[in-house]
Amino acid sequence: MDRFRYSTALIRNKPLKTIDTLNPTASESWQQQLNHAFSQVDALCHYLNIDMDSLPELQANASFPVKVPRCFADCMEPGNPDDPLLKQVLPLQEENIAVAGFVSDPVGDLAAMAEAGLIHKYQGRALLITTAACAIHCRYCFRRNFPYIDNQITPQKRHRALDYIAHHSELEEIILSGGDPLLLSDNKLEQLLENLQKIPHIKRIRLHSRLPVVLPARITPHLVQLLASGPQKTILVLHANHPNELSAQVAVACQQLKSRNITLLNQSVLLKGVNDCADTLYALSERLFECDILPYYLHQLDPAQGTAHFAISDSKALSLYHQIQSRLPGYLVPKLVREIAGAAYKIPLMR
Ligand SMILES: *Cc1c(COP(=O)(O)O)cnc(C)c1O
Ligand code: SF4
Repeated sequence: MDRFRYSTALIRNKPLKTIDTLNPTASESWQQQLNHAFSQVDALCHYLNIDMDSLPELQANASFPVKVPRCFADCMEPGNPDDPLLKQVLPLQEENIAVAGFVSDPVGDLAAMAEAGLIHKYQGRALLITTAACAIHCRYCFRRNFPYIDNQITPQKRHRALDYIAHHSELEEIILSGGDPLLLSDNKLEQLLENLQKIPHIKRIRLHSRLPVVLPARITPHLVQLLASGPQKTILVLHANHPNELSAQVAVACQQLKSRNITLLNQSVLLKGVNDCADTLYALSERLFECDILPYYLHQLDPAQGTAHFAISDSKALSLYHQIQSRLPGYLVPKLVREIAGAAYKIPLMR
């Protein structure tokens, strides 16, 4: 029992205790932080000192429920109902308005399902759905309507997906996605990585995760060790849409990953009211590089049902793009792309 040692340390070292009292999440494990995520808008607004009346009309019981980790809320500006991070998580009434062209599977994932939970859409790489769960519920998400229930990953299904990968020697890269693959326990992730590491034609393992940004406590030394230990290259594609998401804590998590040679890239989605402004996109690229992350993709929104209020026109997207292109070095300009069902790659937007 270390309890006594810690309590003496606290008495001797008063500042430590003060920090813990001010910031209760600092001492919580990532699992605890996840359990304590906000699931109600009123609690979140109370925390942020925002008057609910200053918000647009909200849904009472959204079928895609609210979920916001406290550390992500801590990156929001208290008192600001227009905060760009808050906008990403508010369940607006508008989501229920049907809009032509906004559909349940906008990118043709279901048609590209090679096995349950394995999407083989592009040459040389396939995407494995590891879990349906996410640490945050982003209202613009194209997977918000995904029939995860029909695609639950039983051990048999996982086995069939791994078998498919083993028998398709043209696959050089496996992308772990979801949901969020870093919500798997260390044990489950280790098992999965071990299985993939055994397949000789797999050169790269890529993870698409929002966790280093929205729950940086997930980046534990043990996880970093797991991700870095295999013979293959590991690539982690993060997902931040606004520079305010990249807190000091996020920067530290990224440093730890980077120090073990994990390649860090970022993808963002263009979102009305969040980052549809050249200054914001410019600052995002700058902040990403400070955190050792290179901008990879800037996605034009996938037209998923319930997300139309985030859409911006292609001409606006291109105009923003040309502005950042003229202000940033080439390596800090993400590729502006749109995903089109059935296409061989993510299609660059062009005038
Ligand atoms: C985006 C995506 C990929 C990866 O595409 P890259 O251009 O290599 O980043 C692979 N599979 C699926 C199903 C995807 O949606
Ligand atoms: S899949 Fe990504 S974008 Fe969608 S809700 Fe989960 S974290 Fe957000």
